[in-house]
Amino acid sequence: MTILTGVLGLIWGSFLNVVAYRVPREESLIFPPSHCPNCDHRLGPLDLVPVVSFLMMKGRCRYCREKISWQYPLIETITGIGFALIWSFMQPSNGAEIALVVLNWLFYSFLIVIFLVDYKEMIIPDEFNLGIGILAIIKMIVSQSYWTELLGFAVCGLLILLIVVLTNGMGMGDAKMFAVLGLWFGFKNGLFVLFFSIIVGAILSVFLLAAKVKTRKDRIPFGPFISLAAIFGIFFADPIMNWYFQWFNL
Ligand SMILES: [Zn+2]
Repeated sequence: MTILTGVLGLIWGSFLNVVAYRVPREESLIFPPSHCPNCDHRLGPLDLVPVVSFLMMKGRCRYCREKISWQYPLIETITGIGFALIWSFMQPSNGAEIALVVLNWLFYSFLIVIFLVDYKEMIIPDEFNLGIGILAIIKMIVSQSYWTELLGFAVCGLLILLIVVLTNGMGMGDAKMFAVLGLWFGFKNGLFVLFFSIIVGAILSVFLLAAKVKTRKDRIPFGPFISLAAIFGIFFADPIMNWYFQWFNL
């Protein structure tokens, strides 16, 4: 079953590539059908097998031989691995638990496209934050938990709004994303993801500057760090926060 969910993730991942490319350009997700960005040739079923097509054609378009970005198979692989990990991590045994797995898959998907789009286009489209917000509300209904989520929404959103106003280091897209992450994770885990993303952002920014990938003049988008922290949070926020708070109960 885990392998099956991994395959499902691979296929879903090729759709995420389309989403990450088309949403910031405000193009339709359905029309036109997939085509080569270089020669515009419409892609057939043989070209659309996740990862396999890329490897078979040695990373080139079948029609014009132009190189295809390695981003495509990479995102497919990451989505496949994530789907399988979430399934085996949550081990669903009834309908509600399966619904939670699907919600987590979709949540994970939004985090991947936000990572890609903010990294490349320096923007977190409102559609994605709205999507996470809707998923969070469905999750609240499925798991019958409301207060910690609403508190997380308010606290995470306001904290980052404060940082946006005071430091100019983050954008409104980041603040909206933190607000809906608070709604998804709840108060405790939301704060964990918030602080973890700031730590990850600080460390990776220093690394990017040191490796001269970015210079001090570049604006480094913060969304990718938030996405990484939130993906980490899917698996580890609960155990880490439980471990952390046990010290207060002694
Ligand atoms: Zn082509």
